[in-house]
Amino acid sequence: MVSMSKETSSLRDAVAQWVRPEIRALSAYHVPDATGLVKLDAMENPYHWPEDMVEEWIELLKTAELNRYPDPAATALREQLRQNMQVPDGAEIILGNGSDELIQIILMTLAGKERVVLAPEPGFVMYSMIASFTDMRYVGVPLKADFCLDLEAMLAAIEQHRPAVVFLAYPNNPTGNLFERDSIDRIIAASPGIVVVDEAYHAFADSSYMADIMVHDKLLVMRTVSKMGLAGLRLGLLAGKPEWLNEFDKLRLPYNINVLTQLSARFALQNQTVLDAQTARIKKDRSELFDALKQIPGLQVYPSQANFILFRTPAGKATELFEKLCQAGILIKNLDKAGGQLRDCLRVTVGTGEQNSQFIRALKQLM
Ligand SMILES: *Cc1c(COP(=O)(O)O)cnc(C)c1O
Repeated sequence: MVSMSKETSSLRDAVAQWVRPEIRALSAYHVPDATGLVKLDAMENPYHWPEDMVEEWIELLKTAELNRYPDPAATALREQLRQNMQVPDGAEIILGNGSDELIQIILMTLAGKERVVLAPEPGFVMYSMIASFTDMRYVGVPLKADFCLDLEAMLAAIEQHRPAVVFLAYPNNPTGNLFERDSIDRIIAASPGIVVVDEAYHAFADSSYMADIMVHDKLLVMRTVSKMGLAGLRLGLLAGKPEWLNEFDKLRLPYNINVLTQLSARFALQNQTVLDAQTARIKKDRSELFDALKQIPGLQVYPSQANFILFRTPAGKATELFEKLCQAGILIKNLDKAGGQLRDCLRVTVGTGEQNSQFIRALKQLM
């Protein structure tokens, strides 16, 4: 017994000695178990492909050479993405294993002890998480009460902290709104480092910065296929001037986009009309879900340009509602625990029409 506890404590000591303190202080990103639940928590597209398209995809997969390393440059897929995403001529793109990996590549490239990552808050948690991984300092600048950018506060923080990178999610997650273009333009002009406009939800929004990347030297646009219905493939892209992209590419692991993803994503993008039809459906259902939520007394519902809707419950009720929805078989996202401006807030992903009705029925019953 004595020797066992000695070993245990020496193991603990070794972990404490060698694991970087900022990593020990983190808690791992938690993904809740959704088995058996209607899953409306993670901004997934709820639709599958038509049967004949699935058959065609399986035929294509039969040609996959799993014994070979993938094309390190993913040339064919990159060409397809340039077309579908309307990447301007003269711009360069690199691909990531999800845009999460691209955030990691950007920060590894820019990292340094006193270097700052800046983003509005509430925002996407990966910016601050990966800033900790890369030993950078993260500065969050609060949004206004209506979740618009606080331009004065942003400009003051940029002046004070001289960030290496500013991340702007456009539309923003978890609030769902598009920030005002005037404010973004002022932020780009004032930033000493790069500005990454994260367009994870571009498919559901009416505005984009993709066409602007050749106009501004320090503007980069990031996208992902995850929210378009391909979350399982893990594929994101970063577009910008070659001078930046060539540097980022040095940190990309050579085979980061696997054979199955290269084949499947290209195939899906060649069938963009199917994806577009799903997106149109989700946008229509988003507006119906928004109206239905607005009709429930006591809720404050925020307009969304993404495939999810944020709403505020009566004070102190969010966590209870979240848990009761779970018991009723429906998983959404509880943001109440994050506190601050998200106190009493819940976020629901737009599902199929039937899933949305189920959610609204359950919520009405609980309110
Ligand atoms: C979902 C999301 C991402 C991550 O996308 P992946 O490509 O799946 O890694 C990036 N940014 C924002 C704002 C998101 O909501």
